[in-house]
Amino acid sequence: MFKKLLIANRGEIAVRIVRACAEMGIRSVAIYTEPDRYALHVKRADEAHFMGDDPLAGYLDPRRIVNLAAETGCDAIHPGYGFLSENAEFARICTERGIAFIGPDADVIARMGDKTAARDSMIKAGVPVTPGSEGNLADLDEALEVAGKIDYPVMLKATSGGGGRGIRRCDSADELRAQYPRVISEATKAFGSAEVFLEKCIVDPKHIEVQILADSQGSAIHLFERDCSIQRRNQKLIEIAPSPQLTPEQRAYVGDLAVKAAKAVGYENAGTVEFLVTDNEVYFMEMNTRVQVEHTITEQITGVDIVREQIRIAAGLPLQYRQQDIQHRGFALQFRINAEDPKNNFLPSFGKVTRYYAPGGPGVRTDTAIYTGYTIPPYFDSMCLKLIVWALNWDDVLDRGARALADMRVQGIRTTAPYYQEILKNPDFRSGVFNTSFVPNHPELLQYSEKRDPSEIALAIAAAIAAHAGL
Ligand code: ADP
Ligand code: ADP
Ligand code: MG
Repeated sequence: MFKKLLIANRGEIAVRIVRACAEMGIRSVAIYTEPDRYALHVKRADEAHFMGDDPLAGYLDPRRIVNLAAETGCDAIHPGYGFLSENAEFARICTERGIAFIGPDADVIARMGDKTAARDSMIKAGVPVTPGSEGNLADLDEALEVAGKIDYPVMLKATSGGGGRGIRRCDSADELRAQYPRVISEATKAFGSAEVFLEKCIVDPKHIEVQILADSQGSAIHLFERDCSIQRRNQKLIEIAPSPQLTPEQRAYVGDLAVKAAKAVGYENAGTVEFLVTDNEVYFMEMNTRVQVEHTITEQITGVDIVREQIRIAAGLPLQYRQQDIQHRGFALQFRINAEDPKNNFLPSFGKVTRYYAPGGPGVRTDTAIYTGYTIPPYFDSMCLKLIVWALNWDDVLDRGARALADMRVQGIRTTAPYYQEILKNPDFRSGVFNTSFVPNHPELLQYSEKRDPSEIALAIAAAIAAHAGL
């Protein structure tokens, strides 16, 4: 097993990896930039190294990070999610320097990170994909021609996209003409690539994704699915495992498809195969070659520690489980608590967390890097906490979620927590039948009145009096 592991990330996922290292007897090494001087991952890791004043550059420089890993005697690097996690060059440099990259092979990252190459691989493997363009689009004329063939609505997508960005639905040729330059410009800015492709827009699908684990000996298993249909602007808000809307037959079908997809590309380590599911069809959408934000809920229903398995696999160990050893029990929900103001168009709400109280009690887990007095810097993701709840059945997990959200205190900033309380009360959501249009179809759920904590109101009044008195 590894002796020392560098974490090329920050925030809650860096803390999550530090925890796995601590349990496995591996020394953890954090990196940080100036705004993260007081970040929790820096405090929690066994060692931390400063990467400069620029908020982002230090987390995004493959050579520098691998050099640091070598200098500090690390034998492995965990990339987390976001940042360099899907950067094939980073994985390649690690391998060249004899440091284990905790993820799949660089070639597999490159192929699956390119959404058109991934579609090609899946077509060859016999995994169903949405009808769409053959590879990237040369220009707008080709886009219009393909869209005419597959018929509107279509999705125009950035080939290297991620995080829900660089995707636009187009319902007509006029919309496609208008969106084409926008998606190209967004893709160039966000992903450094102007490549785009088209696929048929599946109307009102469910987003169902399957967690897989594959070792270096050629074994691959799945850990069942997650339902991530509760999204806003193609970004996940609440994730559920297992999906309350699949039959056991559908569950077995998508699980097998995901394993087939992983095997077809020679996948190694943990990964997620994302599908769009309608009443009659299942389509491959993309594969994420990294640990996913919502891996937590799969851990809660299966008991498998996914980050530990990632590290074991990268160390060359065989999977500890066969498919028949993996069972799921109950339901888990994850709420992405974002530092955003839902009532103000989800505008980011960064700043000082004046008070944080973690919810607890049975079936509650929080993965976060915030603490009382911590100032959330404006340079990174707005997700500041993941609240995960588990219960034996669907109705109970909904009630437990509401209770845990009510237990939690995150003061000083606005968060998405009160909005999730409204979703939990909604009869459509409670019925367990919903699709990716749930959020846009329920604008009324944003009409809640804010119940501010008395102590927060007292603080605000005190601040106003102080300001008035010129204190
Ligand atoms: P998940 O796929 O794990 O549910 P998200 O889609 O929310 O997670 O992405 C997690 C983080 O990774 C976000 O900060 C997102 O912006 C970032 N990210 C995902 N894909 C990419 C990509 N291709 N390029 C840059 N950042 C990405
Ligand atoms: P990202 O890499 O940003 O995660 P995805 O390709 O996974 O991008 O798509 C993100 C979301 O966009 C999906 O979860 C789904 O809600 C929506 N989406 C993507 N492709 C389609 C499609 N062809 N039809 C309908 N919805 C889609
Ligand atoms: Mg996706």
